[in-house]
Order: sequence, then C-alpha cells, then structure tokens
Amino acid sequence: MTNVGLVAVSHSAPLAAAARDLALDMGRDAVIVAAGGADGGFGTSAELISAAIEEADGGAGVVVLVDLGSAVMSTEMALEFIDPDMAERTTVVPAPLVEGLVVAAVAAGAGASREDVAREAMGALAAKEADIPYADAAGGAMGAGGVDDDGPDTREWISRTYVVDDPAGLHARPAGALVAAVAPFDAEVRVSHVGNGRGPVVARSMTSLISLGVLEGDEVLVQATGPEAEAALDAVGELAQRGWLAKGEAKPESPIPAHKRQTGSGMEIAVGPALVWNAQPRPELGTEPKNQADAYAEAREAVRTYLSSLGDDPILTLQVGLLDDPAYAGRITTAIDAGKPAQIAVHNATQDTVAEYLDLPTAYLRERSEDVKALGDLLIQALHGLPLGGLAAAIADFGRDPVVVLDSLTPALASEIDPGSVIGILAATGSATGHGALIASAKGIPVITGKEIARDITEGQEVALEPRSGMVYVDPTRAQLHELLRASKEQAKLAKAAREHAHEPAMFDGRQIYVRANVALASDAELGAKNGADGSGLVRTEVLFADWDHRPTVDEQAEVFTQIAEALGTEQPITLRTWDVGADKPVSFFDSEPEDNPFLGVRGIRLMQRIPDALVDQFRAAIRVAQHANIKVMIPMVTTVAEVVWAREMFNVAVEAEGRPDELPQFGMMLETPAALLNVAAFDEKVDFFSVGTNDLIQYMAATDRGNSAVAPVADQVIPLVVDLIADTARKLESPLGICGDLASSEEHVPQLVRAGVASLSVRPGLVPQIKAAIRAIK
Ligand code: PEP
Ligand code: MG
Repeated sequence: MTNVGLVAVSHSAPLAAAARDLALDMGRDAVIVAAGGADGGFGTSAELISAAIEEADGGAGVVVLVDLGSAVMSTEMALEFIDPDMAERTTVVPAPLVEGLVVAAVAAGAGASREDVAREAMGALAAKEADIPYADAAGGAMGAGGVDDDGPDTREWISRTYVVDDPAGLHARPAGALVAAVAPFDAEVRVSHVGNGRGPVVARSMTSLISLGVLEGDEVLVQATGPEAEAALDAVGELAQRGWLAKGEAKPESPIPAHKRQTGSGMEIAVGPALVWNAQPRPELGTEPKNQADAYAEAREAVRTYLSSLGDDPILTLQVGLLDDPAYAGRITTAIDAGKPAQIAVHNATQDTVAEYLDLPTAYLRERSEDVKALGDLLIQALHGLPLGGLAAAIADFGRDPVVVLDSLTPALASEIDPGSVIGILAATGSATGHGALIASAKGIPVITGKEIARDITEGQEVALEPRSGMVYVDPTRAQLHELLRASKEQAKLAKAAREHAHEPAMFDGRQIYVRANVALASDAELGAKNGADGSGLVRTEVLFADWDHRPTVDEQAEVFTQIAEALGTEQPITLRTWDVGADKPVSFFDSEPEDNPFLGVRGIRLMQRIPDALVDQFRAAIRVAQHANIKVMIPMVTTVAEVVWAREMFNVAVEAEGRPDELPQFGMMLETPAALLNVAAFDEKVDFFSVGTNDLIQYMAATDRGNSAVAPVADQVIPLVVDLIADTARKLESPLGICGDLASSEEHVPQLVRAGVASLSVRPGLVPQIKAAIRAIK
C-alpha cells in the first residue's frame, strides 16, 4: 500500500511550493503536491487543486492543507470535479499550512493512515502554543481568538446584525477591512455567526473572523461595548454598505472567487445560478407618423449617449458610427421623409441592411449583421421611450454572481457586464466570433453562444458551462461536473500542444503540407502570421476592397497587397484571388445588372470578361508586388478552358504593361464548379496550381444556396461525395492541388484529403495551429 498523499493549497504558488519543499526536507518519503496560485498570480484554482489531488493519490487517500479564504471553497469545488471514490478518500483539514504540512509529511512518510496524518496536522500548533504563551492586548489569554469568558460579563453590549454579501464571504480581504474599521474606536467589538452559532470572536482578529466560516449571504451579529461602541458599530454598518470593501478600496478587478473563475482567461469552467435576462418586450410598431423625424433624431441621440457611456471599445465605436452611416441612416431618413413612422423606417432599414450583411462571403462578415440588428433594436427601444440596457442593474439586484442567460449577447450588453460580477454568460443565439461574445471573452468572462438550451433555463437554476468544449449542463450532477473538467483539460492540452508547434511545418509521410490562412481583412493576415500560417492560400480581394467607393488603382491595390505580404512574411506564398465579384460579393465600383439567379449569373471571371481592364489592373498590381514578395494569382468561378485561356491573355497584357519584369506570379485557378472539376485534366497544362473552393463547389453539387440555412442539412449530406471527388482529383493531377474553401478548416476531413495528396490547406486564420496538429496526427 502506498503512503497517504498530501496537497498544499495556497493563494501563492511560491508559498505552496516552499511549504512543500520544507515539509519534504522533514518527511522525505512523503508525496506532496503544491497547488498554489491561479493564472500566474495570486488566487486558488479548483482545476489545479483537483489535478494535484489526482497526482498525490496513490490509493491510500490524500490530506489537503489550505491557507485561507477561497482556498477552502476552491478545494471543495475540486472535490466535486474528481472521481467520487477519490473524493471519498480525501480529507481537507483546517490545519496551519506550514506547520501542519511539516508534521503531516513526517507522519505520511512513515506510513500513517489518512486519519492519523490529518490528526497530526491538526495538532501542529500545540508545540508552538506551549512554547510561546500569548496574551492579547487586553491582557487576557485569548487562545484561538475566542472572547475571554472569565467571569460574568456585566458590561452593556449593543448589537446589530449585517449580511455579508462578499461573493467569498468573510474571507481575508473583508475580514481585514472589518478589523481596520473598528480599530480606531475605544470599544470592544465581537462578532458571531448567526446561522452556525460560531463565535463570538474578537473583531480585531482577522483569523478569528475568518474562522467563523461566514459565507456569502450569511448574517453576522456584531456586538460592541465601551465609550465608542455606537461609533464602532456605525463603522461596521458603513463597511457592510460598501460591500465589505475597506475605505477607499476599489472593487478588485476580479472579485469572483477563484473557485468560480479560475484563470480569468474566459476559458474556465463556470458554475452558478442563472439570471435570465429578457430583452425589453417589443411594443407593437406604431403607425401614426407624428413628428417622426424629431422622434428619430431624439432616439438616435439616446442610443448614441447610451453606447458612448459603455466605454470606448472599437466595436461600440463602430456601432455609434453606424448610427451616422449614410447607407443605414440614409435608408431610415428616406423612409421617414416618405411618410413612414420612425419605428417602421428603422425596422425596415435594419432588415435590409442585415440582409445585405448576410450575403457577405465569409462567416465572420456575415456575423456583423448581429451588430446591425442590435443597433436597430436599441433605436426601436429608444423610440418607444424605453430605458436602454439595464443588465448591469439586474445583475446588481440579483444579489449573487450569476451566469447570465440571454437570447442574444449584443455588444452593448456585453459591455455593460462587469467581469467582477458575473460567473459566465450563456446565449441562445450567435457565434463565438459575434462581437458581443468577443467583448465578453476579452474581459475574461467564460461565454458560450448559440445554445438553444438557454431558452429553457429558468431563473435561479444552476448552470455549468465549459467554453473550450462548448458543454453546458443545467443543474449539473457531480458526474457531469467531473465530465466538464475532463473535457476542459483535454481541450486545453490539445490547444496548448497545437499552439506550441504552430510555427513548425506540418509534415505527413515525409512531405510538408502547407497550412495557409484565408485573408479577407488586413487583420486576418496578422492573425494568420501569429498562428504560424505558411502564407495565404486565398486573399479575397473583392472583400478587402468591399467598402471602397471607387475601384482601387494599380498603386492602391499594390499597397494593400504589400501590407498583407509583409504581415505574413514576403517569402511566404500569398495567393491573390482576382476579383470574385457578383452574387454574394457585390462591390459598389463594378456595375452589375440585377439577375434572377446571381449565383448562377455573371460573377467572378465571367464579370471580368465584360470589364477586362479591371482584371489587367489587378494582375499589374500583383506583378508589381511580386518583385518583392512571393505572390501567386488565382482565377475564381472558372467553368471552361476558354475562360482560363482568356485570363492568361489578360495576364500577358499586364506583364507587357509592367515592362516584363523578371519575377512573375504563379498562375492558378479555382476549382469550384462541378464542370471544371470533372474536366480538370484539360486545365492541368494551362495553370501552375489548383485550389478547390469547397463553399461554392458544395452549393453547385448539392444545388443548395450556401447562404440558406434551410437547405444546409442537404448540403451536409453531399460533403462526403465532394471529399471523395477532391481526393480522386488530387490523385490524378500534375499541378499541385490545394483547398481554400471552408472544408479545409474541418479537422474531420483533413486525413482523407491529405492522404489523397492535397498539397496545401488554406484555413480560417485562427485555426492554423489546430489544422497543423490534425495533419501531424494522421496515422
Ligand atoms: C469557395 O467557394 O470555397 C471559396 C473559397 O471562395 P468564396 O467562399 O470566397 O466564394
Ligand atoms: Mg467561391
């Protein structure tokens, strides 16, 4: 049988480690694991403690020694996380950390039972107490801080009760504030726990106060006697009103007890009661057009004031900017001028703008429609004179730190939330890259979005969420908490390993599979570089310039392309896709006729055939940048060989116009129509490389509009066929074949594609490390 293991839990990692080392010096055969600190700073972490218990347990059980305050709660939480049998054989002792650990180490090292080790730890102060007789300031021996009860007390005591509302109860910080609050007064003050009967203890002893075991929401009885008894109690009253913060003390950055918010990264497990936030009920849209322009102007200012009051997050600034956006605001004012009621004008303008955003080419851009919708809702609320926001107040009124449960986490609501007063957020709609989610996670709040279950949760129910795996439990059992912890650890391990190797090549079977970043915004290039991307396999030029009001000149394009190349590294390949304008990617500077079926209409290379100089200019910009960077060009929406032959001619025109420089970009094409894929051999000698656009390929193979979620399940069923087709194609081609559609970002399909000979995968910039890891993991 192995020895009993020991765990030292402290708010300080060095302290826990030093206590362990000291104890090991005395009890050399003991197994001691230090579990100190949280997220590189002071604090305690239930995850860390549970891992320490698992490490210390050799089967004979574990004795855990803790320092103070939230260490106790974190340890209790840790016991929920670990295997129930292991929790059964774990004893947490209220023994002094250093002295207790030393004697426990000796006992455990000698093979003592868990009960004996715990008993030893508890008696650790006896020797010291015998050696150092202690007399308190009043002259009486106070033992462990209890009130001296020698003889009958004939003094007159005045009493008041207070509720401790600090999330971690009367732990070190509020207890210290209580000691400081009563110190200036000529009064003796004592405190008892009303609920558990502990006390009274003297109010000038922090450790005695902590020993009362007062938790959040518990009531304490504070009694005082002496000339300034009233004033002392008033001071305690003020302290309670300040939320148990010392005078002048700011609310700590993150007062959430460490057992609830363990690392502050926004990735930790969060468990707490649900505060269900219902947006203000939407009143019926009015129809009376009375002073509608004024009403709208007032509402707009109210929204501006509200959003501006929430801070200067760029996302909020963006929303404020949208209030004055000529297209959005213009739509509203035009409708009002035409006699529409302001609410209807806002409602319609919002719907139209949202519809336009939903047509954008990348999921990221489409998600920006959530911001427009949120802004429209605010304007309509303001038009009805309803108060804006209010979530912060609801959280304050809730009384405990909640998991906020709502339908949609807008940027404004996310900005209202103080990370110090919530445990986590669960939203029924939206995605992880929605702006509300981004703001909240940047504050370190664990957030999960897009979980319909949020709509079934009722106020006060216990909610547990794990952002890494996206798991959510309502009223979780112990086994479910255990499962959450396991999933969290697993995800963290995988993500850490992927990040650590992100900048190394991803090898499969002795060849490097290039993992590149898709770039639609300049920031994507930076993100890709940070994540170790091997250049870019797709620069969506039509998205880069989507908000330009004029067609960018050759110089202007060259400047933007240079920035991207410099961000990703000029030696890395940067694949510029020529204008893929039309259908879901309109730009204002190319005229296109309205079409009944724009996805099947004049888009991509078909549009360029109508404005060849636009394509020549773009090739010229690419050729210019190719003189100092590794540039490739690629043609979208190719169906016939003639289109490629024509594009090559335009390329040659550009080469001439640029004075036939030495360095020329490689010339490639996208495979995204079934016709091109089925006829791929005919294209092979015409291009230097191929890249499969799976987003369009799937929509054309399945006959499912890529933006229509109603037919998404049909599209999903076609994916295996598409993967087989790509794999077959890769096997029979001379030119290298890459993938730049969203399927490249799917870890599930990476093995089949790579095994078939796919040379590169161009993925969402944030996913480069994971896709590299998935390639390395192929057996
Ligand atoms: C594709 O169709 O898969 C592709 C990469 O291009 P886009 O999504 O920009 O149409
Ligand atoms: Mg496409």
